[in-house]
Amino acid sequence: MTTDTHPDPLDVLIAGGGVAALEAMMALRSLAGERVRITLLAPEREFRYRPMAVREPFTIAHAQRVELAPIAAEFGAQLVQGELEAVDAVQRRAITRAGESIAYDALVVACGTHGAPALDGAITVDDRTLGDALRGLVQDVEEGYTTQVAFVAPPQAFWPLPLYELALLTAHRAYAMNADVELAVVSPESAPLALFGEAVSRDVARLLGKARIAFHGSSTARLEHGELTLEPSGLRMRPGRVVALPLLEGPRIAGLPADAHGFIPVSELGAVPGVDGVYAAGDATSYPIKHGGIAAQQADVVAAAIAAQAGADVVAQPLRPVIRGILLTGDDARFLEAELPDDGEPRSTIGDVPAWDPPAKIVARHLGPYLARGDRQTARA
Ligand SMILES: Cc1cc2nc3c(=O)[nH]c(=O)nc-3n(C[C@H](O)[C@H](O)[C@H](O)COP(=O)(O)OP(=O)(O)OC[C@H]3O[C@@H](n4cnc5c(N)ncnc54)[C@H](O)[C@@H]3O)c2cc1C
Repeated sequence: MTTDTHPDPLDVLIAGGGVAALEAMMALRSLAGERVRITLLAPEREFRYRPMAVREPFTIAHAQRVELAPIAAEFGAQLVQGELEAVDAVQRRAITRAGESIAYDALVVACGTHGAPALDGAITVDDRTLGDALRGLVQDVEEGYTTQVAFVAPPQAFWPLPLYELALLTAHRAYAMNADVELAVVSPESAPLALFGEAVSRDVARLLGKARIAFHGSSTARLEHGELTLEPSGLRMRPGRVVALPLLEGPRIAGLPADAHGFIPVSELGAVPGVDGVYAAGDATSYPIKHGGIAAQQADVVAAAIAAQAGADVVAQPLRPVIRGILLTGDDARFLEAELPDDGEPRSTIGDVPAWDPPAKIVARHLGPYLARGDRQTARA
């Protein structure tokens, strides 16, 4: 896509190269046309489709990666390689880690999170290294060297779905190889995937039961000398291996507010309070669920707010979050959906056919169809 120049376009800087950044870029171009001049500031050259990393330990395939340069070019954005380090809100300038200063009229911070190990001695789930980190474990289970594995979510279980997928995929592989293994999921959630609501929790509990995976809910875990102690029950186990989700931290950009974990607070239109012209979207924000579909919905809200600021005929609408997820089980995938009202319980459904199209793991209005096009179809379930 090329754009004609507008007499006085708004300069929009988007920091990030993940779901939220790309969705914001695409939505903004669609809503504001040539009223905006977009720059994408990203440290990496590729977009990684992170959810498919859970398959890597079980196959030789890798999660999808797509080069950023052609995507930016197609949406008429300038791609700058670098990392946002600080924001000078008075001068409206973004400072990169390399010391470059970039002027903006509107800035979208979509820098994601950093993960730190939650349990010393456990394998930490990191989508960049998951294949290598877990392939040995899967092999040990297949060959009978490892007979007990615990999958542990840390106290702030921002997005526990990959943990359930890894447990279910491990069980499926073990039973296919006639290997005898005891698997357990330990989570602070009161029920499996409780954030999706009751219908989903019940179904996931059934799947765990069928796969003979024990579920220890409302629990946190300590790991010392190979022994896992669950709190508050005091239950002890000695699994051969422990796989744990990481503790997540926000990006902590100097000049921007942050909560205790470094996440950026935002208004319901994605604006960062007290800093004019700065917006944030995706995992970097203090929204409690770190999920690609939510990141994309936040990016769409921010794009509409900026498009309106640029003079486009658009009314910015507050976030109405809906989580959609695909649970990989080794057998047929399960498609989960939940509306998250401000008050009350999530309204959820689960089934074996998706209620959305394309049937991708990350549901994003603009990025989803873009990735599903032609040669990019590997992002699908
Ligand atoms: C194993 C796993 C499975 C998952 N499964 C699902 C799933 O099934 N469905 C789903 O919807 N979600 C899933 N998620 C969550 C989903 O991947 C994230 O919620 C989503 O990627 C968040 O998008 P984001 O753009 O906010 O952050 P990210 O995708 O993390 O992107 C952040 C980007 O910012 C860049 N960056 C970092 N620091 C800076 C900086 N200082 N300046 C500029 N750029 C910077 C990074 O290089 C990256 O490009 C899963 C996550 C994992 C790890």
